Amino acid sequence: MINFEYTRTFSAKAAIDALAKNKSAQFIAGGTNLVDLMKKGVMAPQRLIDINGLPLKDIKADATGITIGALVPNSTAAENAAIKTNYPLLAMAINAGASAQLRNMATVGGNMMQRTRCPYFYDTTMPCNKRNPGSGCGAKNGYNRMHAIFGTSESCIAVHPSDMCVAMAALNATVLVSGKKGNRKIVFTDFHRLPSTTPHIETNLQAGELITGVHIPKNNFNKSYYLKIRDRLSYAFALVSVAVGLEIKDEKVIKASLAMGGVAHKPWRLPAVEKFLVGKKITPEIIEQAAELGLQNAVTVEHNAYKVKLGKAAIKEAITKAIA
Ligand code: SF4
Repeated sequence: MINFEYTRTFSAKAAIDALAKNKSAQFIAGGTNLVDLMKKGVMAPQRLIDINGLPLKDIKADATGITIGALVPNSTAAENAAIKTNYPLLAMAINAGASAQLRNMATVGGNMMQRTRCPYFYDTTMPCNKRNPGSGCGAKNGYNRMHAIFGTSESCIAVHPSDMCVAMAALNATVLVSGKKGNRKIVFTDFHRLPSTTPHIETNLQAGELITGVHIPKNNFNKSYYLKIRDRLSYAFALVSVAVGLEIKDEKVIKASLAMGGVAHKPWRLPAVEKFLVGKKITPEIIEQAAELGLQNAVTVEHNAYKVKLGKAAIKEAITKAIA
């Protein structure tokens, strides 16, 4: 274990100021990913800034939607009555993630900031452009069964591991952040980045910014479902997952929102599928076509070609279960 300084803060300003003083500092809340990474030597912050004392633990519903504080535990968000009633897709996705113990510790903000579970990233004896820029990608010619089929680059083929974020992307959420220059909002689908040539830069947070919460706008989805396919029934990351939100009236789709997990470096929205579904009555043939459309631009590597077939099946099952 490396030596590091530890400090506790009790306001957003104090946390942001503390971060500005040390480029190697990291915020810590639940610590469910960061502590593992520090134990394995993947991350070595000189200072941990404990933000658990910040007043970011509220869930507030209003006429525009719902705002979830960054420090709300995942389990609290999943059990919140307003979220269960009005955003069941989010509750389903959160409950599909990790284990009950981890959901109790992990926060909403931390869930967004968790890092890939690519095994080469965690193995400090292997090359990894994300952990050590310029060193190469161990996964490209390695065992890449869990890796991405969309948005990859020569530098990195890792996936983002979150379930919650897939639902947030489908629900058109906005990330609320604070920094030295004030507050700003980031559209959820712009929050995480594709790897390109800089896989070590995973989000569009600016240096020194703190996530304070997430806002999810009101929606009229009357059919929704989160489907996660994994190697075992719990405590496993998605091979593929699908979040579906549909507004259906008089048997026709008025609005559709779909995102996939386990397939890209960020939650992967399916705009072509959404456009295709609008105005249609959902039939088995339409579901089949939607699934084909969803995976049409997938690019596979040696061990993950199965994700194309699995992804199509997942889209079909998720839409079918949503409208059931
Ligand atoms: Fe590292 Fe990305 Fe390659 Fe995994 S896929 S080894 S995270 S560069």
